[in-house]
Amino acid sequence: MAVTEPAPGAPTAAHEGILRRQSLRESAARTYARSLPIVPVRARGLTIEGADGRRYLDCLSGAGTLALGHNHPAVLEAIRKVLDSGAPLHILDLATPVKDAFTTELFATLPGPLAQDARIQFCGPAGTDAVEAALKLVRAATGRSGLLAFTGAYHGMTAGALEASGGATDVRVTRLPFPYDYRCPFGIGGERAAELAARWTESLLDDPKSGVPRPAGMILEPVQGEGGVIPAPDAWMRRMRALTASRSVPLIADEVQTGVGRTGTFWGVEHSGVVPDVMVLSKAIGGSLPLAVIVYRSELDSWQPGAHAGTFRGNQLAMAAGAATLAYVRENRLAERAATLGSRMLAGLQGLAATHPCIGDVRGRGLMIGVELVDTDCADPDALVPPPAPELAAAVQRECLSRGLIVELGGRQAGVVRLLPPLTITDEQAVAVLDRFADALAAAERSSPRGSASHGSAHRRSATRKSH
Ligand code: PMP
Repeated sequence: MAVTEPAPGAPTAAHEGILRRQSLRESAARTYARSLPIVPVRARGLTIEGADGRRYLDCLSGAGTLALGHNHPAVLEAIRKVLDSGAPLHILDLATPVKDAFTTELFATLPGPLAQDARIQFCGPAGTDAVEAALKLVRAATGRSGLLAFTGAYHGMTAGALEASGGATDVRVTRLPFPYDYRCPFGIGGERAAELAARWTESLLDDPKSGVPRPAGMILEPVQGEGGVIPAPDAWMRRMRALTASRSVPLIADEVQTGVGRTGTFWGVEHSGVVPDVMVLSKAIGGSLPLAVIVYRSELDSWQPGAHAGTFRGNQLAMAAGAATLAYVRENRLAERAATLGSRMLAGLQGLAATHPCIGDVRGRGLMIGVELVDTDCADPDALVPPPAPELAAAVQRECLSRGLIVELGGRQAGVVRLLPPLTITDEQAVAVLDRFADALAAAERSSPRGSASHGSAHRRSATRKSH
């Protein structure tokens, strides 16, 4: 499409050389770089410009980091102010005016009862380190070691965070069913399924022979992100809060991806009104620079000095960029904006689903949106819903890229196309995103090995639900 055509004389040789050297020199563990072979050189708002001269609408946003998009003027100004002031850029965990202002701004956004009584721990600058800190904190505070975590969860790549994530098999972590409506583990979906999931949790906690000793904490995401954009039902969230509170089990909300307006409220827990004991925060709180913290009820603060140390816990530029981002989102009511625009985008995608049976489910909250693609030809007639279609999802991602749209994949088998645009995306840009997505989906269907067969499949449509 014309939008992605390189400008005449664009330096495509440089672009290709950089990509070639990357594939030769960087590790086999590289991730995004494999599915998004672009070389960003400039970026502003929703748009990235590649070394090939092409422009892309970025709905990956640094895996949900860029609440204000790339290089927002408020963020750049905050960074420049620190640079021009002569302030030290690296200060371990010493007090500075920049850190003081960040903490004040962050505390002003927290759910009321937590804000009044919060402590903050600055962690190493990745979400996963803050998850480690949260797990250590509740273990130290309760003297217990077990942890409750959920199917499909993603909490990071360091040892403790991995244990708590859905792919792990660690015995210290008890895995509980997350209410995934579309692929419901109980085969029924809806409120009843969430109720059964809560009852299972309750019985494990209360049955002395359940094999699950009283745990140190429960960790959950208000909307599972990497797991496939699965919003936790509000009533279920309140049940988890009540179950943990009445048994003195600290509740940890991992808001690394759901925070700072992304889901339509400032923090994801606000949809349900739940006030967790610990919140894990990263990504958007650093305004595009690395920053991660936990905030928690002061009563849990039984740590010894140095219990969670680390050299890079004083990134002044990130704190300044983060404070500017938090203030901008709050002052400009961008959470409300995410809610309104998110509902409109969901409605648009649900309209698309009506004519594309390969869309099994459309769901999300605010500007955290997922489209689950399914293989209607491979459907087991007895199954409630068709299996995921990871190859089709990968093809859609490729077709999106060739139309100048960057999207992410997620979900249990990478069958969910994820949209995480910045909260500053305009109405016109949102329409452009949906147009390109629709075009890409149609192209991917046409070129899929089964061609248009799955498009017109006679699969039991009644089995595919559209939820949000
Ligand atoms: N928790 C959640 C909910 C996340 O989505 C992520 C990252 N996608 C992490 C933790 C880990 O954050 P990081 O990649 O910065 O370590």
